[in-house]
Amino acid sequence: MNTAENQNAVFPKGDKAPADYFTGTAWIKMLVPNDSTFNTQIGNVVFEPGCRNNWHKHPGGQILICINGTGYYQEKGKPIQLLHKGDVVKIEPDVIHWHGASPDNEFTHIAVNPNTQKGVVEWMDRVTDEEYNSFK
Ligand code: MN
Repeated sequence: MNTAENQNAVFPKGDKAPADYFTGTAWIKMLVPNDSTFNTQIGNVVFEPGCRNNWHKHPGGQILICINGTGYYQEKGKPIQLLHKGDVVKIEPDVIHWHGASPDNEFTHIAVNPNTQKGVVEWMDRVTDEEYNSFK
């Protein structure tokens, strides 16, 4: 039991995200498992402050619905964008990117992964501290 559980959280924290693909601690609660009718997977992801996932891409695209805290989103070759509760990010298929919390705030988004018949995610390198700390 996590004693720091957010009392306002909509969804339970779920399971710890795989350390191979996340720097820091994140939690994933699957809300809609993939199936062959919907070809869509939906999960709630909680990032502890400073936590981010590796660089990656989604062959079927991805939509992030931000529901708590302050986060970061970056596409390859572009500056980091600050994300707030209520923001929605539409990520085109095969765009290389990462997402996570800002340094001092927990961040929660719902990740919608459509078109799963094309593949859900392809993981790449970790986001270095230099990359993570490049926000201006
Ligand atoms: Mn993504």
